[in-house]
Amino acid sequence: MKIMVINCGSSSFKYQLLDMLTHTVLCSGLVERIGDTAGRLVHKKNPDTDTECKISEDGVFPDHTAGMMRVVALLTDPEAGVLRDLSEISACGHRVVQGGEEFIRSTLVTKEVLDNVRKLSPLAPLHNPAGIQGIEVVMKILPHCPSVAVFDTEFHATMPPHAYMYALPYAFYEENRVRRYGFHGTSHSYVSRKAADFLGKAPEDVNVVVCHLGNGCSISAVRAGKCVDTSMGLTPLAGVIMGTRCGDIDPAVPAYLCAQTGFSPEKIDSVLNRESGLKGICGLNDMRDIHAACAAGNAKAVLALDMFCYSIKKYIGAYYAVLGSLDALAFTAGIGENDDITRAAVCAGLEGLGIAVDPAANAVRSSEPRAISAGGAKVPVLVIPTNEELAIAQAVQRVLQER
Ligand code: AMP
Repeated sequence: MKIMVINCGSSSFKYQLLDMLTHTVLCSGLVERIGDTAGRLVHKKNPDTDTECKISEDGVFPDHTAGMMRVVALLTDPEAGVLRDLSEISACGHRVVQGGEEFIRSTLVTKEVLDNVRKLSPLAPLHNPAGIQGIEVVMKILPHCPSVAVFDTEFHATMPPHAYMYALPYAFYEENRVRRYGFHGTSHSYVSRKAADFLGKAPEDVNVVVCHLGNGCSISAVRAGKCVDTSMGLTPLAGVIMGTRCGDIDPAVPAYLCAQTGFSPEKIDSVLNRESGLKGICGLNDMRDIHAACAAGNAKAVLALDMFCYSIKKYIGAYYAVLGSLDALAFTAGIGENDDITRAAVCAGLEGLGIAVDPAANAVRSSEPRAISAGGAKVPVLVIPTNEELAIAQAVQRVLQER
């Protein structure tokens, strides 16, 4: 079985074609600057092997359909292609950011499903329209191919009301659907299952705190395979400090800033999403640049890194208390998988909770799941590379089997 995974943004999309027998990536790629005069496509055949064939094309892609038409042509291209016929694709999995309370499982897309996803767009105005667009393009270009929507929110649907409700007038929940939804769910689900696997246990038998630390960052508390709390909220702005997003702040700050600066609520929202976080403090949002700046003695970079690690540490403590006992602390995504300095700083001082990192194990670079905890420490600290595309494809497979 071959499954195509599509992650669609407003002016770009990423794709991967996976062979589900071997879990290998047959090809992957990215189309960006859609609608611009300087569009670009990068397509990689056999990206995980030494037979990789990479094609980069500059071109004009007036819309997502044009980009997808080119990708589809490459799939059967004699040189760059990996298929004899497009009918070999069994299904397409689409990342959809917001599933609301309606979609608590990955779902085969029908017209009714699409209409309902569209109705959720006010809750994710930057993201859901893009996901819908990707689904519509596939329905047009690959009509034989069933589409499955896989929601970022679905893994968090098991949170109890006391974790997902905000202490606001109840009508805001009933009438405006204001509550915590959580995001990065595909990654939290995949990493918590892999962490259990690494420990040789079933997901039902472990409690895990997952730290997904990339450009966007979120932490989740997973009890017996089910999410019981997560740091992101109504939107992906809440929780720990991120590359350009502020994370948790006093909810009075936006209104105060509107009054003080004369900025519109939209402008303040944009500042909180795009000009805050690590970037707001030190002007840099890429963690590698921040480490370089710290090494060069940049005090604001040092402060940004300290604030970042402190905000993560607080969530780990909070979720340890939520779970009562902890079988693993798992780090994943760009920073979580690659940055030993952040992992060490986050875990420093948590020895009393049974969490301690072994410096030599922490320094190892690898793309494999691994333990980095100090010998004798009670709680295994793990680095588990995430694989959201594979997790989406596996969700698609489950939906097809249940049909
Ligand atoms: P992601 O959104 O998962 O792709 O993660 C992006 C983040 O990972 C950026 O802040 C990168 O700076 C960070 N990152 C990637 N590689 C490394 C590395 N070797 N050391 C530190 N941070 C890294």
